Amino acid sequence: MTESNQGAVGLVVKLPFATPEEFLAKYGGNITRGGIYLRAKAVKPPGTPVTLDLRLASGERIVYASAVVHFVTGQQGQGIPGMGLRFVQLDPQTRRFLDSAAASLPHAQSDTPPLPNGVGPADHTLPPSPAPPPLSAAPIASAAPRAAAGSAAPGPAQGDVVIMSAEALGLSTEEPKRTGPVIGIDLGTTNSCAAFVRNTKPAVLHSREGHNTVPSILALNSRAKLVVGHPAKGQMLTNPRQTVYGAKRLVGRPYESPIVQHIKDRFHYEIAPGDGGEAAVRLGDRIYSLQQISALILREVREVAQNQLGQPISRAVITVPAYYNDNQRQAVREAGKLAGLVVERILNEPTAAALAYGYGRKLNQRVLVYDLGGGTFDASVLELADTVYEVISTGGDTFLGGLDFDNAIVEYLLNEFRKATGRAFQGDRVAMQRINDAAERAKCALSERSEMRVHVAFVTMIDDKPYDLDVTLTRQKLTELTEKLVDRTLQVCDEVLRAKNLGPKDIDEVILVGGQSRFPLVHEKITRFFGKPPSKGVHPDEAVALGAALLAHSLGQLEGVVLIDVLPMAIGVGLPGGRFKPVLERNVSLPATKSYTVATHRDEQTELELSVFQGDSDRAADNEYLGTLKLTGLPRRPRGAVQVTITFEVSNESLLKVTAREGTTGREVSSTFTTRDTPEAARARVSRLEAEVAPAAPSPARANSRPPPSATAPRTPSSPPTKSTPPEPPPVVPSKRSLMGWLKGLFGRA
Ligand code: AMP
Repeated sequence: MTESNQGAVGLVVKLPFATPEEFLAKYGGNITRGGIYLRAKAVKPPGTPVTLDLRLASGERIVYASAVVHFVTGQQGQGIPGMGLRFVQLDPQTRRFLDSAAASLPHAQSDTPPLPNGVGPADHTLPPSPAPPPLSAAPIASAAPRAAAGSAAPGPAQGDVVIMSAEALGLSTEEPKRTGPVIGIDLGTTNSCAAFVRNTKPAVLHSREGHNTVPSILALNSRAKLVVGHPAKGQMLTNPRQTVYGAKRLVGRPYESPIVQHIKDRFHYEIAPGDGGEAAVRLGDRIYSLQQISALILREVREVAQNQLGQPISRAVITVPAYYNDNQRQAVREAGKLAGLVVERILNEPTAAALAYGYGRKLNQRVLVYDLGGGTFDASVLELADTVYEVISTGGDTFLGGLDFDNAIVEYLLNEFRKATGRAFQGDRVAMQRINDAAERAKCALSERSEMRVHVAFVTMIDDKPYDLDVTLTRQKLTELTEKLVDRTLQVCDEVLRAKNLGPKDIDEVILVGGQSRFPLVHEKITRFFGKPPSKGVHPDEAVALGAALLAHSLGQLEGVVLIDVLPMAIGVGLPGGRFKPVLERNVSLPATKSYTVATHRDEQTELELSVFQGDSDRAADNEYLGTLKLTGLPRRPRGAVQVTITFEVSNESLLKVTAREGTTGREVSSTFTTRDTPEAARARVSRLEAEVAPAAPSPARANSRPPPSATAPRTPSSPPTKSTPPEPPPVVPSKRSLMGWLKGLFGRA
């Protein structure tokens, strides 16, 4: 203890704990919102002002407060010696830490220091009205939010929130210059990772601290600063509201999409609409787009790579899930650009994993990539023929992943809690986050061992009594709880195989990717289903990044690899009555081009609109809305006399380009493909349409009087033959009955 110049006793305590969570788990009974109990032989008398500086083993400060000694214990030969300090003034970081502790430790609501069990009675308690010592011993951050990074101004205000601009975040707004080598980046849901090929061998790049992945997490820390990666992960438990994870599941999705509406409450942070109607994140009074969040993670990964390779990096191959739709792929491209990267190629994750498995081995095999990550599952069948990697079938479940395993465990733990205490669990977000975290840790541990104790101290308070959660989970129990989830993955494998008339025996190797594929039950069930154990040849966490690095490397080679991918979900147009007409079918090999013809449905009609969707449902409303094609300047003719051929071109990266040509005269017509609609614009459009009646289909005589026009879509030398479909009735014009469905469709299914 030291005497400060304000007369307060300076008390610096270094704790043997690595994280605030560990501190709370072991020491939570000694702290409340109003004070702390410290064991100490030499105590100060009640009323003594103290400046308390409590630090973790790393030196990171978790409590900085001015306080007074409120009571002392164990001074009269009875109980444990120590003192209770009552907080008088707190720095903002401490205030937040204590608020979150109080939220998860019900006894910590008290505004006086606790008298922990077993330390004995208080000997002396403070007389009233202590003099508070001022807090000034060390610089303390202001709580006021400020521009998170960089010095430029934030973007436009929206009510009392500010939409962050790329400049304010120090992100790049210009096309990056193409220099230096190309790296591979796995932009993961949970972790992101960079890899590079050196002397023909791909390797994952490590950070200076020795980590080979960067957690895909961004947080606003207690000093109102944006942090990315490991520091952000560190505050996930204590400050979940300001910690953004799982951005990958939201990027490129409209805020109003049913799926975002459905899942937004599962996230502990706030999901809000961005300025273009897309799902975005609100931290404090700022709104961050998911592209910006992904860009900040990519920038961190890029920095790891630059530090390790010792040269500037501005080019990358970035991987995405095979089932990502066009919007999501475009969003990743944009994030790459904001991070100062030229995205040389967007690569599907299963193809990347297959590359990591087969590159340079001259294989002739059919493989199945089984990718079970944190949030999603997908299965893809590829045929490898030397340097050609052809995806022949792909499918998945975007709501099946490690998180569902965690949820099954949490449900079990809460049940056990009820059985042990006879009381229903009552806890808030922070308490639930602590249980989730403990469940996930137990799950991972049970991949290596057969039993694990799950202990979360002081997890809730019922009738003023604190309760721990303390359950021993066995691997056997975990297997029982999650068996149906693993069965579901095999059902998807079966569907993906059947789509190509294949069976499990037709697969030469099963390649496991994704952290959750480490679960022993996955290995067991795969071995049973395919009649052989999965390949041991690839690392489940690194395969995707290594594959991306191999493709990056091959881009510079004369004889690089040839990748043939398939379209993960059909792309098509909405029709009257809310039907969906696929133009390019699911699993078609890429690149693919196909055209579609529409006719005017009113006399003298000069404009036409066509809504484009992606998905596998025959209802447009159930698919993802990609955008609206607007055609203007059509020649004034009787209805049905003007026909427009619309060409859908999907590149080998699954990116869509739409062009239109007026069929009768062969003129290009002016067309715009709008992929962004604010909620207001979309609602206004729906109101307009509400007033319209669904058009009657052209009379057969009239419709038949003109032969369907032949395809006139432009062909490029490298594009595959263009196919065309006969003219369809005009585009979706919702009737009142289907209006809500159409509105949903307009925003898409995410
Ligand atoms: P990924 O998205 O590939 O990083 O996978 C993350 C998921 O894998 C999370 O749900 C983790 O809990 C889970 N996971 C990571 N390691 C293991 C392990 N050893 N056993 C079971 N699941 C794991």
